Formats: sequence, C-alpha cells, structure tokens
Amino acid sequence: PFDMLVVGGGPAGASAAIYAARKGIRTGIVAERFGGQIMDTMGIENFISMNYTEGPKLAATLEEHVKEYDIDIMNLQRAKRLEKKELIEIELENGAVLKSKAVILSTGARWRNVGVPGEAEFKNKGVAYCPHCDGPLFAGKHVAVIGGGNSGIEAAIDLAGIVKHVTVLEYSSELKADSVLQDRLYSLPNVTVIKNAQTKEITGTDKVNGITYVDRDTGEASHIELQGVFVQIGLVPNTDWLGETIERERGEIVVDKRGATNLPGVFAAGDCTNSAYKQIIISMGSGATAALGAFDYLIRN
Ligand code: FAD
Repeated sequence: PFDMLVVGGGPAGASAAIYAARKGIRTGIVAERFGGQIMDTMGIENFISMNYTEGPKLAATLEEHVKEYDIDIMNLQRAKRLEKKELIEIELENGAVLKSKAVILSTGARWRNVGVPGEAEFKNKGVAYCPHCDGPLFAGKHVAVIGGGNSGIEAAIDLAGIVKHVTVLEYSSELKADSVLQDRLYSLPNVTVIKNAQTKEITGTDKVNGITYVDRDTGEASHIELQGVFVQIGLVPNTDWLGETIERERGEIVVDKRGATNLPGVFAAGDCTNSAYKQIIISMGSGATAALGAFDYLIRN
C-alpha cells in the first residue's frame, strides 16, 4: 500500500506529491490527465517568478519535477470510488483498487460552459473564463460577461477597470449578485447590463468579433461587436465520484487549515475544495499544506 496517494495531477496534486515524497514516504499520484486545467491554458502571466509561461510548458516542468522523486505516477486513470476500511481505498475506472494510509484529493474543477456555437472554437481566442488571468489581455477592448451572479458581476467590475467597455448578459430578468456588487456595477460609466438575454452564438473569424443574443421576452435577436467574452456561469468541482463520504458545500470539499476533510486520513487541495480563490499559485500552496497536514496525520497514527 501507499503511505500517501494523491488523486488528481494538476498543480495542487503535483505539489502535494512532491511535498509527500520529500518526506521519504511511499507516494503515488493518479491522474485522469496530468497537468489538469493548465493544459487548456495559453498565456500565464500571474505565476509569480515567471513573467510569462504557457500552460502546457508549465505542465511539462511540473511533470519533470515530480519525476525527480520516487513517485508512482498513474496517468490516464480515473478514480471512481473512495472508501475507508482499514486503509483508504481508491477504486479506479479500470477496476484496480489502490490502498493508502492517507489520501489527498486534488481533482480540480471545470468552468461551466454556455454551450453555444463559437464557445469551444474561440476558447483562448477571445473566449475566456478567468478575469484574474486573462483580463489584462483585453485592455482597451469591448468585452461581454455572460452571467449576472456574484462571479459574473465581480468579473464585470474587475474588467471595467481594465477594458474599454463591458456588456453583462444575464439570462433571467434580474441580476442574482449581492446588491452591494450591483450598486457598484451600476455606478460604473463603461458598463451595460442586458437582462433576459439568451446567448445564441459567439461569432468570429480567427478570433472573437461579436456575440449574438435573443431577448427572451420579444424573441428578437441582436448582435454586439466586441473582442472578448468572459463566461461566468459557475465553476463545477470534480467531486461527484466521492458519493456521500466526504463533506462538501456546493460540491466543494470542505477542508480545515491543514487541508483535512471530515474523514480522518483524507485531505484535499486546490480547486476541488472550498478555498477562497481558484488560481495556480493558490492550488500549489494548498497542495503543500495538505501534504504536510497528511504527513502530520501519518506520524500520529
Ligand atoms: P486541476 O488543474 O483542475 O487538476 C485536476 C486534476 O485532477 C487533473 O489532473 C484531472 O485530470 C484530475 N482528475 C479529475 N477528476 C479525476 C478523477 N476522478 N480521477 C483521477 N483524476 C482526476 N490560474 C492562474 O493562476 N493563472 C492563469 O493564467 C490561469 N488561466 C486559466 C485559464 C483557463 C482556460 C483555465 C480553465 C484555468 C485557468 N487558471 C489560471 C486556473 C488554474 O488552471 C486552476 O486554478 C488550477 O489548475 C487548479 O489546480 P488543481 O490542481 O486544483 O486542479
């Protein structure tokens, strides 16, 4: 059996595995796709100490760093069940059952897609999901934010300080964001809010050049010319496979300051947890925290 088994091979999992292996304990890492979300990321400008890098490049150096240590890497394997018996068992989709004294869950999250034509095609070519990451790329341009919940309105306020104009498209007849955010939004001169707007298509040639929506009351279609679309309709943690064993809030695994979950020996890190913000540097930090927390657990049990 493993001493520490990490489930998820993104920035959080890679960091947790390295911290664990450096304690000289038997460490494994299972990943459906090593690298995680950064494999879908073009430019990264906020990974501190690197002015600029690209997702796949960062994933390659992550893997290189993990391979410096005696870590059992099981890539292209999906976990489907966790159960605590004498040891913690992780069953994989291929039927194998891995056993470990401690487990770190770092299965990340995925942005909810609007699912309209153009969204997939123009990903990283004007379609973006993370204002902290990609906002500055749209300086001086006109962008849309799809979604009028807290994350959409926070994104719109953030972007309004960087870009020329922000158009918020909200599907229902009211914004869902907290009223203090709405007040702040409506105080800004370069923001337009369109409610009852169903996005139909993100248009473009080699990159985004506009968005088409339909007014849900009148059925009338409109097209806006713009250069960027931020989709802000939710971040979904990859935690469904955990069943009822691990406590979650809106799908996010609840962790304490050491990364411990409600189940002794099971820790979690990164975007799959209820951490405050979802960023590479934050997930790496929480991976380190969870590994040290789990090591502490091991030496006491
Ligand atoms: P993830 O990166 O999501 O990794 C999860 C890992 O778990 C993957 O290996 C996945 O295959 C695996 N996994 C999932 N389910 C299972 C399962 N059942 N069994 C086994 N393995 C499983 N952040 C920044 O700081 N700067 C940026 O510029 C930036 N740009 C971004 C651009 C895009 C397009 C996206 C999508 C995200 C961006 N982010 C950026 C956010 C950043 O990528 C995430 O915060 C970070 O990757 C989270 O790391 P993680 O390890 O928690 O999860």
